[in-house]
Amino acid sequence: MKKTAIITGASKGIGAATAILFAQKGYNVVINYNDSFESANLLARSLNSNGYSVTALKANVTNKLEVDLLIKETVYKYGSVDVLVNNAGIAFQGLITDTDEYDAAKIFDVNLKGVFNCCRAVTPVMVEQKSGKIINISSMWGQVGASCEVAYSAAKAGVIGLTKALSKELAPSGITVNAIAPGLIETSMNQNISVEDLNAFVEEIPLGRMGNANEVAAAILFLASSDADYITGQVLGVNGGYVV
Ligand code: NAP
Repeated sequence: MKKTAIITGASKGIGAATAILFAQKGYNVVINYNDSFESANLLARSLNSNGYSVTALKANVTNKLEVDLLIKETVYKYGSVDVLVNNAGIAFQGLITDTDEYDAAKIFDVNLKGVFNCCRAVTPVMVEQKSGKIINISSMWGQVGASCEVAYSAAKAGVIGLTKALSKELAPSGITVNAIAPGLIETSMNQNISVEDLNAFVEEIPLGRMGNANEVAAAILFLASSDADYITGQVLGVNGGYVV
């Protein structure tokens, strides 16, 4: 039977690359989006026209009711949730003194509470199946911290803590929970960084370049595969050697 993967924030960037790869590898794929109705539905239509099995579903990951519905609709349509990729995220750059309460709350809500909401909603489904793979997208800044990204770094560190704790809670049910910590990846998330700053950053990356979304997607696919059945509670860096 075909396996089913939900990928949050799959309307663009790493999530879209992951949706394409999972569809190509034979999964039913749910492309979750929040604002980007058009790009999410365009991607779903184009994959379906190539014979893949894909549905675009809107849900704001910060909203518990919308997340619960996302999981319910997926189970109703495909019968199971075998893989949950918690990828939806937003960035914010600025000094801590320039980060107001509202900005900080939004960063924590999308990047950490969103992961919590999705994990909580999918857990009963996976526990009943006695199987499942949860892959949370953190960041290398969650491992080592970034100046001028204090709220983002804290939220992404929280994702790592959540991953470790939940891996212990769900292991007896045959469910693995892992995180990926990408480095600098070429997506729209970095479009506001100046070329000079990007070049200076790239000089510090041992492999000498930015990563691309497909390279993160490949790591996600690995953690979702049976080759990773004995891996849980881990953080896999995809960062060109920037953090080792
Ligand atoms: P991106 O191109 O900006 O895409 C972000 C995705 O998140 C979009 O599909 C967006 O969907 C979705 N999203 C945002 N808020 C949402 C919400 N409330 N509910 C549901 N979906 C929401 O970013 P990306 O670079 O692919 O980032 C993907 C993940 O990798 C993020 O968690 C990010 O923190 C992490 N990451 C990225 C980098 C990097 O250098 N790019 C490095 C480390 C970690 P809508 O447009 O539909 O709202």
